[in-house]
Amino acid sequence: MNPEEFQPLHSIAARIVSIRERIVAAAHRAGRDPSSIQLVAVSKTHSAESIQAAYAAGVRDFGENYAQEYTEKQKSLAHLNEIRWHFIGHLQTNKVRFVASTASLIHCVDSPKLVHEFSRRAVERSSPLPVLIEVNLGRESTKSGIEPAQLESMIECIELEKTLDLKGLMAIPPPQDRAEDSRPFHRELRRLRDMYGGQSRLPVLSMGMTNDFEVAIEEGSTLVRIGTAIFGNR
Ligand SMILES: *Cc1c(COP(=O)(O)O)cnc(C)c1O
Repeated sequence: MNPEEFQPLHSIAARIVSIRERIVAAAHRAGRDPSSIQLVAVSKTHSAESIQAAYAAGVRDFGENYAQEYTEKQKSLAHLNEIRWHFIGHLQTNKVRFVASTASLIHCVDSPKLVHEFSRRAVERSSPLPVLIEVNLGRESTKSGIEPAQLESMIECIELEKTLDLKGLMAIPPPQDRAEDSRPFHRELRRLRDMYGGQSRLPVLSMGMTNDFEVAIEEGSTLVRIGTAIFGNR
């Protein structure tokens, strides 16, 4: 059990320091350069004040899941001029427009329909919109993400779009009681990345959340999405 869970007043800034230390330690265990791992603070359901506290502590990347909430926060925090927004949730095509013109990375592309809608809406940008393909590793029918068998055709579909910039893969493994049990899923995403073009074609591996980010880093994650360990329970 993590002792921080028993300190409700532990500040966001102190939690971020501790997360960064754990990222560095996990990277060193795996013989990796800690600067190759990006921290995205997942701020869904948390207030603009909490985001500002994390920004003051040096975080620049924030992840949101819901289009409406994304839009409100993006607008109200526009004065934080180095902030980068990540869209990490499932998105209906009618909500793509605002997200496509303002996000720095889309994590959840999982259908040709979404590819075409993002591509169409990204024409308003000055540079191509960076995107990740979400892969379904849990193979549960309710989950989003494409099946691994569809990966090659999805990669080709995105690479044909001039307004999109394919950066890599993302996955949300099925929740596990023990972090260690998520290791085979992270290993599988890494294997798929290596199989479909490796680091040069798919440099970003977005995997690892509060409960399993250290294991994900050991298995090659380049971007961890952490909510609860920074902002507390939702
Ligand atoms: C909510 C969410 C997270 C953060 O989860 P925590 O367990 O709170 O760290 C990460 N990724 C996605 C896609 C999410 O929806």
